[in-house]
Amino acid sequence: MIKSGDEIRQAYLDFFESKDHLVLPSAPLVPKNDPSLLWINAGMAPFKAYFDGSLEPPHPRIATSQKCIRTNDIENVGKTARHHTYFEMLGNFSFGDYFKEKAIIWAWEFVTEVLEFEADKLWITIYKDDDEAHAIWKEKVGLPEERIVRMGKKENFWQIGTGPCGPCSEIHYDRGIEFGDSSEDVLGGEGDRFLEIWNLVFTQYNYTEEGEYIELPNKNIDTGMGLERVASILQNTKTNFETDLIKPIIDAVVEMTGIDYQEDEESMTAYRVIADHLRSVAVAISDGALPSNEGRGYVIRRLIRRAARYGRKIGFTEPFLYELVECTAEVVKGVAPDLKEQLAHVENVVKSEEESFLKTLEQGLNILEDFLVDLKAENKQVLSGKNAFILYDTYGFPLDLTKDIASEEGILVDEEGFENEMAAQRQRAREAREESSFSSGEIDKLYASFKKEIEAVEFTGYNSLTEET
Ligand code: ATP
Ligand code: MG
Ligand code: MG
Ligand code: MG
Repeated sequence: MIKSGDEIRQAYLDFFESKDHLVLPSAPLVPKNDPSLLWINAGMAPFKAYFDGSLEPPHPRIATSQKCIRTNDIENVGKTARHHTYFEMLGNFSFGDYFKEKAIIWAWEFVTEVLEFEADKLWITIYKDDDEAHAIWKEKVGLPEERIVRMGKKENFWQIGTGPCGPCSEIHYDRGIEFGDSSEDVLGGEGDRFLEIWNLVFTQYNYTEEGEYIELPNKNIDTGMGLERVASILQNTKTNFETDLIKPIIDAVVEMTGIDYQEDEESMTAYRVIADHLRSVAVAISDGALPSNEGRGYVIRRLIRRAARYGRKIGFTEPFLYELVECTAEVVKGVAPDLKEQLAHVENVVKSEEESFLKTLEQGLNILEDFLVDLKAENKQVLSGKNAFILYDTYGFPLDLTKDIASEEGILVDEEGFENEMAAQRQRAREAREESSFSSGEIDKLYASFKKEIEAVEFTGYNSLTEET
C-alpha cells in the first residue's frame, strides 16, 4: 500500500506518466523570469508562459511535484492541521489538450484506485454555474447528487484580474467527526474535518477589459494537490505535521530540548512552526535566496526570526536552527535533492542570521515580556503606545513584531498612541537638527555613523513584506 510521502509522489507521477504526461522535476522556489511573483506558490506558476501561449510547452501534458512557498499562510502554520509556508503541490497540466472530462475522471481514478480512498468519504465542490462539471461528476463518475456541492465565485472560480480564468472543482476528504464538528467544519470552511485535498482548475475563459467572459479556443487544465495533506490521510496522522514529510524535523528538535512534542499546546505550536519554517528557509536558500531587508530575502529573514522566536519558547537561547538543516535536507530530498549538496552553505547562512538576530532580540524580548506580565497582573489588555515606542526606539522592534508577540498573549497594542510617540520623536529630531546646525560638523558625522549602526540592527522592512498571493 502507498503510504510514505515519497511513495505518494512517485505514484502520482507514474499515474500521469501512464496517461501520456511529461514528468518534469520541480522548478526552484525562486521564480525565473517572473518579476510579478516573489515565490513559486503553485504547481502551475513555472508554466505561466505555456498557459498564456507566449511559449510553446515541450509536451501538451505535463505532471510535476512542485515545491511551493505561501507566506499568506504564515499565521495559519501550527494553528490549522493543514497549512504550511512550504509544501509540495502535485499537479497535472494540459495546455490546450485534454479538458474537464479527462481531468475529473483521472483525478477520481487516482484517489479511489491508486490511493484507495473510500469513495463515500469524498465530497466534491463545483462552481455554481458549472453544469458541465456537475454532469461529469454525476453521470461519468457516478457520484450521488448530494455529494456534489455548488459553491460561489469566491471558493470555486479562479481569476486574477483580466486574462485566462475559469471555474474549478475541488475534492475534499471527510476525516470524520473526531476531527471537528464546529460551524467551521464544513466544506471549504476553516475547520479540519473536511480536508481540501485537490483543486482542479478549468481555464476556459478569457476575462476581458470590458468585463466579458469569452470562451478560450485552447482550454487548459491546471490541478494542484497538497502532498502533505494526502500523506496525513494515508498515514492516519492528526495533522500534516506528524507525517514523514515533517515529523523527523520535529523529532530532531525534541531530542535537543527534551520537551515532549505534545507536552502542551504552546510547545506543540513552537515545534510545528520551527519545522515548517526550516523547510521553507533551507530549501529557499539552496535555491538561491539569501536573507536581506527586502522582498524575497526579507521573507527568509522573517521566517528565520520567527522560528528563532518560537525556539526561545521551548528553551533555545543560542542559535539552533542551523543544526537542523541536515535533518531537513534528509526529509525533503525526494523533491529538493540540491539541499544536501549545499548543506554547508545553507547552515552557514542560517547560523549567522540567527546570531545577529538573537543579539537584539534577547534584550527587547525580555523587556516586552516584562510589559506583558505586568499588564496581565493588572488585568489590562492593551500595551501602551509609549511602551511599544520604547521597544521600537531602543530595541528596534517594529510595531508589527510587538503586535505579533503581544497578540499571542491576547494583548492589543495602542497603535494610535504609538504613532503619536513617533510623531513627537520626529519633531524632537527636527528641533535637534536645527539646534546643531551651528555646530562644527563633527557631531553630525558622529550622529550619521551612529544612525548607520542603529539601522543595521533595526528590523526595517518588516512592514514592507509583500504577500504574493
Ligand atoms: P485552503 O483553502 O486549505 O487554504 P487553498 O484553496 O488556498 O487551500 P489551492 O490554492 O486550491 O489551496 O491549492 C491547491 C492545493 O494545494 C490545496 O487543495 C491543498 O491541498 C494544497 N495547499 C494549498 N495551500 C497549502 C498550504 N499552505 N499548505 C499545505 N498545502 C496547501
Ligand atoms: Mg489557502
Ligand atoms: Mg480552499
Ligand atoms: Mg483551493
